Amino acid sequence: VTVAALRETAAGERRVAIVPEVVKKLRASGVEVLLERDAGVSAGFPDDAYEDATFDDAEAVLARADLLWCLQMPEASRLAGLRRGSVLIGALQPHRHAESLQRLAGQGVTAFALELLPRTTRAQAMDILSSQAAVAGYRAMLIAAEHCPKFFPMLTTAAGTIRPSRVLVIGAGVAGLQAIATARRLGAQVEGYDVRSETREQVQSLGAKFLELGVDAAGKGGYARELSAEERAAQQQALADHLAGIDVVVTTAAVPGRPAPRILTQAMVEGMKPGALVVDLAAEGGGNCELTHPGEQIDHRGRTVIGPLNLASGAAFHASQMFARNLQHFSALLLGEDGVLLDFDDELLARSCVAHGGEVRFTAG
Ligand code: NAD
Repeated sequence: VTVAALRETAAGERRVAIVPEVVKKLRASGVEVLLERDAGVSAGFPDDAYEDATFDDAEAVLARADLLWCLQMPEASRLAGLRRGSVLIGALQPHRHAESLQRLAGQGVTAFALELLPRTTRAQAMDILSSQAAVAGYRAMLIAAEHCPKFFPMLTTAAGTIRPSRVLVIGAGVAGLQAIATARRLGAQVEGYDVRSETREQVQSLGAKFLELGVDAAGKGGYARELSAEERAAQQQALADHLAGIDVVVTTAAVPGRPAPRILTQAMVEGMKPGALVVDLAAEGGGNCELTHPGEQIDHRGRTVIGPLNLASGAAFHASQMFARNLQHFSALLLGEDGVLLDFDDELLARSCVAHGGEVRFTAG
């Protein structure tokens, strides 16, 4: 069996799907590893860092791949080279790539979109949403610190004492908790807020204060549910008052299958101090702030709103390492003694499969 990866070509994408450490593990289980030349360079893994892997051009890689690992859906021209019966695995975002999916199915390729895996205990080691969200949370807070006109930590200097910045993280899931931990390490005074009350302890265990706004919206499976109009209004009213004292807000709120909840209005941003900053990690899903323009930094009456995209790519080395480990754990489900084995009775395969047997297995909505 050959596991392969191409160089990622999406704009701004620096990660790579196979890292040297994972090559060792694959080789130990008798798998061949093949990469496109320079596939890992942008993530900090030059070709000579990979022992025991083979390098070739994209065409040759596609022609020989049994499993093709990727970060993002490869561009159409590259997919055309995939063999019938081969398997594509990655963060395929099927709702955004209907045409590619159709093409893959037509070519007899089986495709798995790992972001569709259920968040069960068994799936934890392959959970790309968690691994990449942790990186994104960390990166978002560094971007906030970089753009904040104030110090994060308290400083006692000959020029007097500097008070620490006040940071609020809205949404305390995987990304939010990592953002909180990062702000704490930088010495800020940090508060966390979430509609799931069970996050209170998690926020507090990181040395941050839990902001109580009196709305509890825990939904199914550890996720939040969407707020009612009344709940949303109550949340916004309480939050607006509080924001006047905050220097930096990092928003990470999401509800599965729904657009990102709009939490910060223009008026709320205007109510913040001049120089205040919002980093909207939910920009990719439309944003938690009304003023967010995905991929842009805007100045609004002296307040800054940043909507970064693909934050995980900004820490490409470790993001790739974690993603590759996730891929390796998932692929272990497919690698039998005599080659690739697809057991669709396994819910992890059944739930993440988006193309198989000539058919697209994904319906948006
Ligand atoms: P997510 O990305 O779906 O959402 C981020 C956070 O936003 C969540 O904490 C959510 O409660 C919060 N949120 C939603 N609407 C909000 C609003 N209006 N205001 C404020 N906050 C709002 O979540 P996630 O980070 O993927 O994880 C959610 C939960 O799932 C966590 O408890 C996590 O520990 C759990 N989880 C479990 C597993 C597993 O067991 N395998 C894996 C991953 C995550």
